[in-house]
Amino acid sequence: MHRDPDCIFCKIIAGEIPSKQVYQDELVTAFYDINPVAPVHVLIVPNKHIPSVNHVQPEDETMLGHMFSVARQVAEQLGVAERGYRLILNTGEHAGQVVFHVHMHLLGGRPLGRMVCR
Ligand code: 5GP
Ligand code: ZN
Repeated sequence: MHRDPDCIFCKIIAGEIPSKQVYQDELVTAFYDINPVAPVHVLIVPNKHIPSVNHVQPEDETMLGHMFSVARQVAEQLGVAERGYRLILNTGEHAGQVVFHVHMHLLGGRPLGRMVCR
């Protein structure tokens, strides 16, 4: 599995940095965000190091599809599936991406307001 030795999420996936893990399989890992902005705030990440959606390749499609399947399972497991949740993938500077390892935010547990600020 391709990893970046300096990447914080690669270290979390490998268990070298502790996290509150919710799910892991051979393709993806899900863990609680360290600085939650909603009652439920989980990050779903590919185990393979991909810096951003700008770096996604056709061979990543199975794994990317699987991230949605895991999002559904995690939402159900954490009790937000019925009332709803938001999935966010920040890409690059204008989206405020801070960690350059693809991650899907799963946010829920309260009304989340409009999609973006005007
Ligand atoms: P971005 O802004 O890149 O979309 O989101 C990065 C997210 O990673 C932020 O919500 C931040 O709180 C979270 N984060 C950064 N470092 C760590 C860490 O070491 N552990 C965990 N669990 N989350 C982190
Ligand atoms: Zn990484």
